[in-house]
Amino acid sequence: MSDAVRLVRHPAAKTTESLYGYILRLTEENGYPDWSSIFLLANIPRHERGTAHIQVSQLAEITNQPEQALELIRYTSPGMSVVRCRLLAHPLAVTDLRLKTPQICPDCVEEKGYIEAHFDLSFMMGCPIHQKTLLSVCPKCLQPLSWARPALLQCHCGAFLPESTRTSLSQPEVTLLDIIRRRVLGEPDRVYHSGLPTRELQSLTLDCLIQLINTLGRSASERSTADLVGQEQVVKSATQTLDEWPKRFIQHLEQLYETLPSGESLRMTQEPFHKIYWLAAVRIRPQENADFLRNVLSDFSALHGGRFFSGRASQRKGAEHARKFISIREFARQHCIAPRTAARYVDTGQIPSVASNQGNVHRRLIDSRCATLPLKDAGKIYRMENAAKLIGIPLLVLRALKANGEFECRHLPNILSGLHELDVASFIQRLLSLAPTPARDHFNTIETIQLRDITRSRHGLYSPITVKTLIIQQLLSKQLPVIGCVDGTPGGLLISVKDVQTCIRDNSAVSRDRTVPVTRVLRPD
Ligand SMILES: [Zn+2]
Ligand SMILES: [Zn+2]
Repeated sequence: MSDAVRLVRHPAAKTTESLYGYILRLTEENGYPDWSSIFLLANIPRHERGTAHIQVSQLAEITNQPEQALELIRYTSPGMSVVRCRLLAHPLAVTDLRLKTPQICPDCVEEKGYIEAHFDLSFMMGCPIHQKTLLSVCPKCLQPLSWARPALLQCHCGAFLPESTRTSLSQPEVTLLDIIRRRVLGEPDRVYHSGLPTRELQSLTLDCLIQLINTLGRSASERSTADLVGQEQVVKSATQTLDEWPKRFIQHLEQLYETLPSGESLRMTQEPFHKIYWLAAVRIRPQENADFLRNVLSDFSALHGGRFFSGRASQRKGAEHARKFISIREFARQHCIAPRTAARYVDTGQIPSVASNQGNVHRRLIDSRCATLPLKDAGKIYRMENAAKLIGIPLLVLRALKANGEFECRHLPNILSGLHELDVASFIQRLLSLAPTPARDHFNTIETIQLRDITRSRHGLYSPITVKTLIIQQLLSKQLPVIGCVDGTPGGLLISVKDVQTCIRDNSAVSRDRTVPVTRVLRPD
């Protein structure tokens, strides 16, 4: 290092600086007409100049700084394939960099005093800070900007670059470019108020983010224009497709679908969807970062009778999005109702659905994210076991009462397995209202039994479920009088033992045949 010729002025490179921007800064600081003087001094071979494969060891020598400092901003690392490169620490395809014809935001360069690395990206068509397009053509000589110029803000023709006029960016473009800029420079993520899926975009690596913009932008641009698609158009089209997520993306898929010959079935792996499929299924890693794309594609595919991932994204543990469109049978399974009941709700429009047509097969799918069972009133739904405990009667008795209509389901369709809290409360109230206030006079003179002694009985006269059910039915129909209530609960209802026994004897069918299969009265349908 001691034998090397050093530059007179050799400021250190910034950690977020463009490497070629740094060489141009050295050119300007030392008063050279263009960067070729630096290359000569650093003995950098001609074939490396202006490419991603430039070596930095001799550049480090003439600027008197450790080689590692320049390795950080170098475009390649040892052992990298010729088609790959990197920008700061981010691996990229070599075509993702725009090194031959640079572009800058003169305002940023003026404020910072150096060119930041993100301007080396092909897709960086604007500055999110100043919300304007970048400068890539000299406003005076109208030539593409070149690194072979005397200063950061001066063209080789002498024009002062900040005096150029640039067009404004749309807000979604600003957001997308800001996400890219932060990703390149390693700045922390932020919250945006935007129609773009910003949280999902911020989770992607720079490489995946660029792939996404490239795929969506080209897919949308090729459809709308026959012209050669420029990088700027690709970013604009990608932004429009990602905006109002996922509405515009679905519209784009629908437009692609319309280009299929009629009668041809949808296959995501074939034209015109295969590039988007490849992006979502293969290219974006880790896989869950592509879920926001995969879920939309899965729903779209299901709507048109195709198959895409078979909902694997939604089944993956921790996946945030559930699969949107499901079959009627699947909806019925999820809500523990009979498929024909779900089908009836769909037919009557109580559950919203969409038509799915493929060839001659027409079926309806339910949007699982907005479809709910048509409850008459909002409220808690008890499982049958819990409702039975709350009322203080055995589960089988409750089922029998529900089946024969003694338990009224006014707030929830009685084909469902649960019970609405209002129906449970009203049933308890109905039982309690049977007790006279004050209790009957002969309360203390006759032998009585509490209802809970009957419902809990496991042996003897009261043990069969049919007997327990009969007694509650007789109470509700007031054929079996209630004398009082000891504790304000249905279990505390007091009944005359003599009356109970008479009731059982009178309903001899019950008492004679204690082996009546309970299930016969328990099945609702
Ligand atoms: Zn700027
Ligand atoms: Zn010029």
